[in-house]
Amino acid sequence: MNCLFCKIIAGEIPSTKVYEDEKIFAFKDINPQAPVHVLVIPKMHIACVDEITEENSAIVAHIFQNIPKIAKLCGLENGYRVISNCGDDACQTVKHLHFHVIGGAKLAEKMA
Ligand code: AMP
Ligand code: ZN
Repeated sequence: MNCLFCKIIAGEIPSTKVYEDEKIFAFKDINPQAPVHVLVIPKMHIACVDEITEENSAIVAHIFQNIPKIAKLCGLENGYRVISNCGDDACQTVKHLHFHVIGGAKLAEKMA
């Protein structure tokens, strides 16, 4: 599959890893939109939030169970925002489910 994030997980494309376990991978966004901008992704390929099902949703719980730890690893002690873009209207550019964890400064009140 020609998927950028699957290639990052496989180590075929370099990334700055922040956290990894048997199911998920977290790395720094190449184009950060805040002082801290990390992407948390499942190792299994799921295209986007639209593709979350009863069968695969445990990975989403696992991601969210680990986001607080990843946030602390990144020095986010005063809050952060978690965002997942899904589809064209949300400007999703990489079709592998990912959660942006953004913080390190006071963020804009508006999200869109
Ligand atoms: P989205 O627009 O929600 O699909 O987010 C995709 C994100 O992936 C963007 O914030 C990009 O900056 C980021 N990105 C694209 N290529 C890379 C890469 N090679 N390493 C790290 N982040 C990347
Ligand atoms: Zn993928």
